[in-house]
Amino acid sequence: MTIIMKFGGTSVGSVAAVQNVHKIVKERLDKAPIVVVSALSGITDALIKSAKDAEQGRIDDSAIRKKHNDLLKGLGLDDGLVDDELSELLEVLKTIAEEGLTKRSLDHVQSFGERMSSKIVAAYMTKKGMNARALNSYDVGLVTDSNFTEAEIDSCSYENLKKNPLLKEKGIVNVVTGYIAKDHKGDITTLGRGGSDFTAAIIGAALDAEEVQIWTDVDGILTSDPKIVKNAVTIDEISFEEAAELAYFGAKVVHPKTIIPATENNIPVLVLNTHNPSHKGTRIVKSARDAEHGIFKAISSKKNVTIIRIVSSRMLGVYGFLAVIFDIFRNHKIAVDMVSTSEISVSVSVGSKDDIGPLIEDLEKIGSIEVRKKRAIVCIVGKGMKNIPGVSGKIFSVCGDEKINVEMISQGASQVNMGFIVDEGDADRIVVALHRELIEKRR
Ligand code: ADP
Ligand code: ASP
Ligand code: MG
Repeated sequence: MTIIMKFGGTSVGSVAAVQNVHKIVKERLDKAPIVVVSALSGITDALIKSAKDAEQGRIDDSAIRKKHNDLLKGLGLDDGLVDDELSELLEVLKTIAEEGLTKRSLDHVQSFGERMSSKIVAAYMTKKGMNARALNSYDVGLVTDSNFTEAEIDSCSYENLKKNPLLKEKGIVNVVTGYIAKDHKGDITTLGRGGSDFTAAIIGAALDAEEVQIWTDVDGILTSDPKIVKNAVTIDEISFEEAAELAYFGAKVVHPKTIIPATENNIPVLVLNTHNPSHKGTRIVKSARDAEHGIFKAISSKKNVTIIRIVSSRMLGVYGFLAVIFDIFRNHKIAVDMVSTSEISVSVSVGSKDDIGPLIEDLEKIGSIEVRKKRAIVCIVGKGMKNIPGVSGKIFSVCGDEKINVEMISQGASQVNMGFIVDEGDADRIVVALHRELIEKRR
């Protein structure tokens, strides 16, 4: 049996944090941990910026270099430990300056974050007397398609990881890169922002781990993002289904895809705080108790959402019209978050990552299109909500009291959530109000 311990950016971003990581892992050596790490906090953003700057002819890796060198120095490690990665990064940036930036070269640039952090964490653990080594996930079997920046895992990865002798070796702590992988051609890919959690879950599923631990900078999954709601509290237990909804609709504490391999293999996921390791955090399990504070377990919000409204009096009600619409979305590979239909229109919400220009052109062939940007989805989760009368009345009366206009409403097909769309500028205010009325008052 093994456990997977994933440490996020802030958990490896400073001398004190890396020291904590070592201590936390050391206390769990009897569980044969496999460690998965993110890039140092802020480094993935800095790498993306360096790639974009290089495209404009400006090559500047100084901030990235400094952050890693300072950490090496602070930890008392060999100051040349990540020199190979830093020089390779510089070469890639020079190539981008000459040849332009592609999603493929952007992923190559981003990969250095996790490649360097894994080396640093493993070296520090070794220095402290632990038998540890850094491994690149793609060297132990993680394979994706070639959809750079949002690559999908190839199912062969599970078999590859399971068979890999390095991961099975006893008495050694492997420190594996999160977030990055390679496609079948051997080009480096990434799994989408925040994807290290997903790497941990994949490795956990492949090795049939006892549990996957997500070590971060908060005491587990809280009733809302503590950066928005200061009274948010830790949820002891949450179901895979509830956690998936929450993550998908904005709670970035776990990457939404993390839940899939865990659910399929029924592996508990624990969310824990590197800076407060004695806190018991949150357990994500197959079936969870209702929260002590009642039926509403947590509230999340996802900003930067666009609503596309398709009006077609001619077509609506015609057999297969929705299929036509969704075919267009599929052709453009644009994922739909929420849908609501009326007599003459279909409204669909999408995230902000994609360029929707070509999609809109195609949709215009079937109806008139209205695009509303800068919206936010608010999502309330709790399996106890289903079958309770008056739940939506309660939610929307809070919106009414706050004088917030609600644009689209959807009761999730899973029945553990209720979502609606508001103006982005109103999102934090309604989350705070809903938390106060639905959660704090019931504690
Ligand atoms: P890491 O670098 O460890 O992966 P992230 O920044 O990706 O950490 O995720 C942790 C952050 O998620 C927290 O600092 C918090 O602001 C945010 N967050 C959003 N929603 C929630 C929630 N419901 N519970 C806890 N944290 C949340
Ligand atoms: N380093 C990556 C990011 O910042 C992956 C992660 O942190 O999970 O998105
Ligand atoms: Mg994260």
